[in-house]
Amino acid sequence: PIVAQRIAAGEVIERPSSVVRELIDNAVDAGATTITVAIENGGLDLISIMDNGSGIAPDDLPLCCESHATSKVASVDDLYHLSTMGFRGEALYSIAACSRVTIASSWHGQSPWSMTVDNGRKEEPVPGGPSTGTKVDVEGLFKFIPARRNFMKRASAEAASCRAVMVEKSLAFPSIEFRLLVDDSLRVHFPVTNRKERVLDALATDKNLVRSETMELTDHAGRFDLYAVCSTPSTFRSDRSHIKVYVNNRPIEDYALVQAVTYGYGEMLPGGSFPYCYLFISVDPELADFNIHPAKREVKLRNKAEIHHQIVEMVRTQVRRTIP
Ligand code: ADP
Ligand code: MG
Repeated sequence: PIVAQRIAAGEVIERPSSVVRELIDNAVDAGATTITVAIENGGLDLISIMDNGSGIAPDDLPLCCESHATSKVASVDDLYHLSTMGFRGEALYSIAACSRVTIASSWHGQSPWSMTVDNGRKEEPVPGGPSTGTKVDVEGLFKFIPARRNFMKRASAEAASCRAVMVEKSLAFPSIEFRLLVDDSLRVHFPVTNRKERVLDALATDKNLVRSETMELTDHAGRFDLYAVCSTPSTFRSDRSHIKVYVNNRPIEDYALVQAVTYGYGEMLPGGSFPYCYLFISVDPELADFNIHPAKREVKLRNKAEIHHQIVEMVRTQVRRTIP
């Protein structure tokens, strides 16, 4: 079973940033308003995530790291009404199969309990942990799986990947405060704010992104709820890497939706240039199926053509209005 676990783990957990992605999702699902991620040696020695969410009941602690241990899907029907980020109940199980995981948690502020699963081996829960919320420590990722461990990049590159995942996630949740510590030094601190300011905070090091040249687009009238933070036609980029699309707060890779944004700008931008645009789409969960890939970067959308059209129209009309 250990081997099977490890194979399964490889699918969900590729590198330290995959762990960061999954654990942030869990903190978000737990209703946290502040999330702190700390990594050491690119996350290969330690990934630690603290949240102030609801916590885990002591009785549930031993179940968290079991396969399909999700508390989020009670029936198949629920899969189609998904409002949480997690739903497969595989993340902690997979992580615990290839590292030493300690979960310490206080259930709604009660006395905390802690439990360790060491590379698939469960230990008994013991008292102790944070006074609110949950802390998950992941030590020695892939330590006993050399084939994977050897595949890791140098610490600085893994740390950069963890940071990118955190920033990407944080854009969807401006009402949550995020911190990232890399080898004990604070590298990212995003206070609670609104969506536009969070995008600006996240890209603050980017000189091209000037506040005054950034606009917001909204379309709440159509069937799909759209909101975007994007560039006016006076600022643009040479590639489309700054067009990011979120569906129900999940970053997704979907070329057609990226293309809808560029179509919307159309002639307003010089040839070969692209806008920057962070587009957030809210759809009825029944119309979106995320259960395709473990990393959840793909989504199957019903009414794709309609969404595409709505995006093109929103961008076209609202961006054009800014041109004198
Ligand atoms: P999923 O998120 O798909 O349900 P996970 O393996 O990520 O599966 O987590 C398993 C379960 O552990 C969750 O369903 C949740 O009940 C609990 N859990 C994990 N992390 C946290 C957390 N930070 N706060 C509260 N509960 C958590
Ligand atoms: Mg999860």
